[in-house]
Amino acid sequence: MGKAAIIGAGVSGLSMANYLEKNKIDYHLYERRTPNDLKGHGFILPKEGIEFLSEIIDIDELYAKGSFLKKYIHYNRSGEIISEKDLDNVFVVSRSALIEILAKGVPADKISYNSTVALNGFEDGKAQITLDGSQKLDADIVIASDGSRSRLRRTIFQDETMKAVLENEVVNIIENEALAGEIESNFLKFHHENGGLTFGVLKLSSSKILWYCQFDITKYFINEDYTPDCIRQFMLDNFGTWNPLISSIIEGSSYENAHIWRVYELEKLNPFYHRNVVFIGDAAHPLIPFTSQGVTSALKDSFTLTNLLTEGKPLQETFQKYEEERRPEIDIHIANGRALLDQFLLPLDEQPKNTLPISYK
Ligand SMILES: Cc1cc2nc3c(=O)[nH]c(=O)nc-3n(C[C@H](O)[C@H](O)[C@H](O)COP(=O)(O)OP(=O)(O)OC[C@H]3O[C@@H](n4cnc5c(N)ncnc54)[C@H](O)[C@@H]3O)c2cc1C
Repeated sequence: MGKAAIIGAGVSGLSMANYLEKNKIDYHLYERRTPNDLKGHGFILPKEGIEFLSEIIDIDELYAKGSFLKKYIHYNRSGEIISEKDLDNVFVVSRSALIEILAKGVPADKISYNSTVALNGFEDGKAQITLDGSQKLDADIVIASDGSRSRLRRTIFQDETMKAVLENEVVNIIENEALAGEIESNFLKFHHENGGLTFGVLKLSSSKILWYCQFDITKYFINEDYTPDCIRQFMLDNFGTWNPLISSIIEGSSYENAHIWRVYELEKLNPFYHRNVVFIGDAAHPLIPFTSQGVTSALKDSFTLTNLLTEGKPLQETFQKYEEERRPEIDIHIANGRALLDQFLLPLDEQPKNTLPISYK
């Protein structure tokens, strides 16, 4: 096999680079952001995600940066418990910590930051890709891991329709040792009785907590300036009278690193490959946050694709097998994600009492 160009150093691109590195397959990874621009949120990872990660990273380093969640507790907004569920080795870690750990497995001369790659069509069946608008890159395989709004994908599949998901999120990570101690290893989630509004809080480490809110965009509106003050005001307006735990968290939080996530999904998935371009992670299949399966799916894509590449079969056969192996599971997560979204929009008394907060295949 010749050289692979990996486009995008999120979890999918970085995990792909780690697997290729382990299997001594030639590659270079291009990422448009700077190495220190690690904005984002936290990831909830099911047990399977941890298992895949343990093949490529020092798992103790990951454990030191996050925490296991033991129990999911579902409350109404005044703080009465609606249901409780034990969680089996579900782990939570900040996106920045996971990205940093994954990046350690990629030698410095095999990753270029501040490097935006574009696709300018195909010649003799091969993708013509350029770096920063001019420099031509030579690659036998292009691995597109450029995220849910993948430019490479949209250049190839020009008829695709991306649609806004009715749910958006505010996510924040704050230092608060006392609260981290108080919530222990529980995943607390509070729901508005009319549906379409939740507040979740979990412990990342002994001093850090992650909180987030999910809101129905047809009912709740946030000022599009997205400044820390606007986000704070949105949180106070909508959660200020909830259970005192929540009001104290939102009043006591700094909003400098709070982030608003606009969520999109593909109306219909495209093929996972086209000629010598193959898609992994969100670029192949954006999954809505309710599933908590985006990272694990990205890891499984990288793992599956690498294994197939090492077999040395013709590229089209390799890519076809990759799609055949990965697509059925993705279809399940998409369906589960839509069901979880529908539940979220329902009034609390119409929601099933015993559902887990994530999608399982
Ligand atoms: C609010 C929210 C909460 C979520 N919660 C969870 C969760 O709890 N658990 C979970 O498993 N998943 C969760 N997800 C999903 C998860 O974030 C994604 O599935 C996962 O991060 C996908 O990683 P990726 O590498 O495919 O894409 P991304 O993380 O989007 O990475 C794409 C990378 O490509 C780079 N890039 C883009 N275009 C170019 C270009 N032209 N040239 C070079 N570089 C480029 C970008 O800068 C970026 O670094 C959540 C998502 C959201 C929005």
